[in-house]
Amino acid sequence: MIPFVDLYLQYSGIKSEIDNAIKECIAEGNFIKGKAVSDFESAFAGYIGAQYCLGCGNGTDALEIILKSLNIGQGDEVIVPALTWIATAEAVNNVGAEPVFAEIKAKNYTIDYNSIEAKITKKTKAIIPVHLFGCPADMNEILEIAGKYRLFVIEDCAQAHGAEYFGRKVGTFGIASAFSFFPSKNLGAFGDGGAILTNNKELANLSRKISNHGQLHEKHSHCMVGRNSRLDSIQAAILNVKLKYLDEWNLKRLKVASFYISRLKDNNKFTLPLTEKDKKHVYHLFVVRCRDREKLIRLLDEKNISWGIHYPKALPFLNAYKYKNHKAEDFTIVSSITDEIISIPIYPEIKTEQLNLICDQMLKL
Ligand SMILES: *Cc1c(COP(=O)(O)O)cnc(C)c1O
Repeated sequence: MIPFVDLYLQYSGIKSEIDNAIKECIAEGNFIKGKAVSDFESAFAGYIGAQYCLGCGNGTDALEIILKSLNIGQGDEVIVPALTWIATAEAVNNVGAEPVFAEIKAKNYTIDYNSIEAKITKKTKAIIPVHLFGCPADMNEILEIAGKYRLFVIEDCAQAHGAEYFGRKVGTFGIASAFSFFPSKNLGAFGDGGAILTNNKELANLSRKISNHGQLHEKHSHCMVGRNSRLDSIQAAILNVKLKYLDEWNLKRLKVASFYISRLKDNNKFTLPLTEKDKKHVYHLFVVRCRDREKLIRLLDEKNISWGIHYPKALPFLNAYKYKNHKAEDFTIVSSITDEIISIPIYPEIKTEQLNLICDQMLKL
């Protein structure tokens, strides 16, 4: 059996470091807002190159808190790509605003900047580009449109820890960015976790207040109605250990991707991820497009090779968004893509013999 990811294998490699970090955290006894949290916040801000980092409960909360801090809510619209994990759009709904879907680019699966302008109305307040599958969105073009219409850009970096655009890490291009530390992400905790990154001091403070019951540093001084969304100390302690390995792990993912590309590129049945100049892709997922997906799935299943589909339905066509009455013709590119995409195993610890087995099997198509 070849699993889709192997988190235990990752843990085995750094077991004593992780175990010690957890033990230290327990000995310290500060499970909420302990030293590990502030240590991680400064380390991660430093790694990404942002001034402020605020840990929170998960990546969805991070998006929601950013939107709230920007005073986006009832009556506002936010443009999001039609292909992403539902959390990107959910966060918009959950602050009372309306997500407006934009088409994606077939070549890299990120939001198509050419489709954004037509979606802008008087109500539009922000755009949330998603660096989907680990591939940076086309930020220059997106920022230009946002500047022209005075819209906020909030980056969804949940799948792109360490990805770069023109030599700069994603998460520093918009007013703020949201990261997720869901266990299987490129940087994952042992449970839920998330972070907000920004260079804007006011936004950082407001987000910190919102995520901590409306109080900043002083206890019982609730200056606004907030909520509870914090990163646990134990999760932060684990992330502190793992952050040191992120670059090495991302490099290994890139090597796996290069291996797949070199073995599969001559078969015209597969459309493989594109290597784009000025972008450092971190391959959270390795997504292949294949017209005969059903047959490919049978071949993979035959050898117990795990696979996934990210995502089987674009957001406009989910029951959750049925109320918008979108038709396939509204999003022709994403509609055709979701019938063909399949994600094959990619993780830093996967072995060459496993990769060869996967490719051998795929090439039987
Ligand atoms: C994982 C993910 C999120 C949300 O993260 P959680 O931590 O699970 O809430 C948001 N957006 C994208 C694109 C994701 O992949």
